[in-house]
Amino acid sequence: MKEWMKNVRNVTPYVAGEQPADKNIIKLNTNENPYPPAPAVRELLSGFDTDILRKYPDPDIKDLCAELAAYHGLSSDRVFCGVGSDDVISVAFLTFFAGKKKVLFPDVTYAFYPVWAQLYGIPYEEIPLKEDFRIDAADYRRENGGIIIPNPNAPTSILEGIEFVEDILKHNPSSMVMIDEAYIDFGGKSVLPLLEKYDNLLVIRTFSKSRSMAGMRIGYCMGCKEAIAAMNSIKASINSYTLSQIAISAGVLSVKDDAYFKEQCGRIVKTRDEALKTLAGLGFTGPESAANFVFVKHESLPGDYIFEELKKRRIFVRHWNKPRIADYLRITIGSDEEMKRLYEALNDIIQSERK
Ligand code: PMP
Repeated sequence: MKEWMKNVRNVTPYVAGEQPADKNIIKLNTNENPYPPAPAVRELLSGFDTDILRKYPDPDIKDLCAELAAYHGLSSDRVFCGVGSDDVISVAFLTFFAGKKKVLFPDVTYAFYPVWAQLYGIPYEEIPLKEDFRIDAADYRRENGGIIIPNPNAPTSILEGIEFVEDILKHNPSSMVMIDEAYIDFGGKSVLPLLEKYDNLLVIRTFSKSRSMAGMRIGYCMGCKEAIAAMNSIKASINSYTLSQIAISAGVLSVKDDAYFKEQCGRIVKTRDEALKTLAGLGFTGPESAANFVFVKHESLPGDYIFEELKKRRIFVRHWNKPRIADYLRITIGSDEEMKRLYEALNDIIQSERK
């Protein structure tokens, strides 16, 4: 071992879904949106004035914070923007989970949470989901240093109601409760209205899924102004210039086109609801989804087998070799054409197995 290696920080990183270079692969593995971003975003990028690149972007991301604040009916000082919601959550962990008590999150959830906790030395406890993959609010009535839950949860796709989040908030007045609403735009009811009643709530959103802008890296969160100010202090202590001016401008244009946004979300919801029915016909079961993906297992074939067979047929989905979910596949909702190819491939895999 080289001497300097003794000082290297040891981490087990988060493993992101594969991004294959081959454009012919049907990518249903990272919950990207199959449709393009808003037309104004496309126009902006095709005629972008590169002079903007000479200068640093606005460190306060004022235009985008103001646009999002107006969209959600809040004041600008209640919105924090970051480089994807991953950046927002990372800053939120650093800001609000600084105590010695354990931070709580479900055992089956976004796999990045334990990674940030380990990186920042935050003690944590994973609370088991119920047998049916639901989250029981009563499990969060214990001493803790903070809570984070995605709603809908990922990868289960299950949405819990507003009462569920309110129960957690009521029982945890001295903890910051973060609700990661990465997938809320696909038919779920946001807990945003609870912000008026609870100053210990942080609602986290992303442009990566419903706004078709995963490559632009924009995420944001909303909370009381003291919470947002605290996050801005931490952010300014790491990197003042997070979002590029291109991302800021593109983000503003995306938010302005609400009709396009709602139309694309509606298309995905429709394809998703059909997907669950078609997959049921192929022998798959899974919870009702409120996200842009479904979480399903087959009646006889193991998850890793279907995953590999789909890969051979150039269709990528997501699979985790983890207890409780090893037989499940998380399948992102693609375009209708992509989904058709998926069903054909699954049918082929199932038929070949029966021969
Ligand atoms: N939260 C959840 C629950 C997610 O599934 C993801 C996507 N991997 C993220 C946050 C992060 O998304 P992004 O950084 O692209 O906004």
